[in-house]
Amino acid sequence: MNQIAFKPVVALVGRANVGKSTLFNRLTRSRAALVADFSGLTRDRHYGEGRMGDHPFIAVDTGGFEPVAKDGILLEMARQTQQAIAESDVVIFLVDARAGVNAHDHEIARLLRRTSRRVYLAVNKAEGMRFGSATAEFHELGLGEPYAISASHGDGVADLIERALSYLDGAAQAEPAEQPAQQFDLDEATHRVHSGDTAAVPNESEASGESGEPVNHRIKLAIVGRPNVGKSTLINTLLGEERVIAFNLPGTTRDAIEIDFERGGVGYTLIDTAGLRRRGKVFEAVEKFSVIKTLQAIEACNVVLLMLDAQTEISDQDAHIAGFVLETGRALVVAINKWDGLDSEQRERIQREFERKLRFLSFATMHTVSALKGQGVNALIKSVNAAHAAAFAKLSTPKLTRELLAAVEQQPPPRKGIFRPKMRYAHQGGQNPPLIVIHGNALDAIADPYRRYLEARFRAAFKLAGTPLRIEFKSSH
Ligand code: GDP
Ligand code: GDP
Repeated sequence: MNQIAFKPVVALVGRANVGKSTLFNRLTRSRAALVADFSGLTRDRHYGEGRMGDHPFIAVDTGGFEPVAKDGILLEMARQTQQAIAESDVVIFLVDARAGVNAHDHEIARLLRRTSRRVYLAVNKAEGMRFGSATAEFHELGLGEPYAISASHGDGVADLIERALSYLDGAAQAEPAEQPAQQFDLDEATHRVHSGDTAAVPNESEASGESGEPVNHRIKLAIVGRPNVGKSTLINTLLGEERVIAFNLPGTTRDAIEIDFERGGVGYTLIDTAGLRRRGKVFEAVEKFSVIKTLQAIEACNVVLLMLDAQTEISDQDAHIAGFVLETGRALVVAINKWDGLDSEQRERIQREFERKLRFLSFATMHTVSALKGQGVNALIKSVNAAHAAAFAKLSTPKLTRELLAAVEQQPPPRKGIFRPKMRYAHQGGQNPPLIVIHGNALDAIADPYRRYLEARFRAAFKLAGTPLRIEFKSSH
């Protein structure tokens, strides 16, 4: 089993107004534009993907805190900060160069000195200040050398993040694992593996795709959703008893918990979000729901199975998780669970309501299921397979070009000023999600409605259900 590594989590902590959200936006901005199209999803968004060179990471803005009561301020601050620290790999503690050290900074510093996480002290708003003068007084926080940065201008930010990430890289290699790296073969599986009876399981061998990219045939699946929607129930229904091949416990905090299983001749790696442990025949979640683990699992998988509860309203938390799936471009299947015990009038009303609220996920197949009774689960898994196949579809240049030219002939792109965009050919630029690169002239003139028209054409022609599809235009003039 190849161990899947999660993206490292960088938490931004500090009192209100030091510049956490400014820094967060700078770190994640390449992605922010993508979500902006889906109104309502960006509100309260404190998690985002960042990238520094070849190093992707997840940034967490711990947010401001609402002082509930006078003496509740520090308590609430401590609670939020502590939770963010516990779930992160490295902490960036922001302070304000212009305001100087204050009591809240000391309070947070005291907390941070007690944690085992590596902390970087970032003295923000330092643009235009003399070298050394911005940081001088912050040594007293006892958190090592302060870094002068400007979140709004960008000075010092890349250097700081690079240091934090390369520290993590070093730590992953040099530090002993917090738990010994182990691979557990479960009882039945051990027997099966040892007797060589694994023929039905597709080999994990990495075949070379058309593009030269390695293709992993095992479907990496993440089952996500807010607490109590029925994730563990579905996992137990899916895993049954004998199908589990191996259960990989994490070697370090950044290793995913993975469960390999097989169903209907297809191999899956379930990337767990809740710290599943096995107790007798059933799997139990030992940890509480964690947004960060959910995001990491979404990042690490190929296909997301988003679970919703038919018996409760769609919540902001559901929308946030869905929004993150959209940002990452993962294939997606939606399961509306707890469909049992509803009468036909309720079913009709609930289905309509979910379809309306989830219109922004129109590429995803939606299923109504009962994880508890196992109803609808086979159809659900068929959609997972189809979504995976669509995400990794091989789209040949001649077929793409033929479809492109047919689409253009039927409905030419509108002119923009004196320019008439001219599309010449299309090729595939990536997978999971499929990226179609269209070459031609004056393509900057193509507006969103026409892009959507092309997307719909490609989707229909190549039967790409269950995966987002990205289109990029490349003009030669
Ligand atoms: P948060 O409450 O910690 O998230 O802080 P914000 O990111 O909302 O920033 C608080 C204020 O500081 C805003 O008015 C920002 O424009 C300002 N700010 C943030 N970063 C910088 C910086 O690098 N330099 C300056 N001069 N102002 C900044
Ligand atoms: P998780 O927190 O998402 O892992 O949710 P659980 O799997 O622990 O389920 C939460 C509760 O919902 C438990 O009491 C389950 O028995 C119940 N539940 C799960 N799936 C179904 C279902 O399909 N129908 C009904 N009626 N209850 C379900």
